[in-house]
Amino acid sequence: MPDPTDTVWTSDRPVIRAVPHPGALDPRGITITCPKCDATRDWLLLNVRSQVFVRCRCSCEWHEPDLTRAYFDEHFTAPEREWADFEAAMRALAFDGLLAGSTWD
Ligand SMILES: [Zn+2]
Repeated sequence: MPDPTDTVWTSDRPVIRAVPHPGALDPRGITITCPKCDATRDWLLLNVRSQVFVRCRCSCEWHEPDLTRAYFDEHFTAPEREWADFEAAMRALAFDGLLAGSTWD
């Protein structure tokens, strides 16, 4: 009988690490820009296994190959929270699109 708490995440540990990053990001010397709303800062960085994703307030999200897990670990150690469920994480961090277009000073 399957464990009802067993989700698509087969790991017993949360697999998403999310770190808000209010400033601009330029891992290659080129400022990262949201392809959807042209925002240049106020990101949420997501580390999912070995990959790092950038998420914008408008809920646009993409894999950013220039941001490696090592880069993530080196630069974004705290504050850090973990979730097992992606949607819960996005709601908790207000990156579910409700605040699209807003930037926080
Ligand atoms: Zn955006």
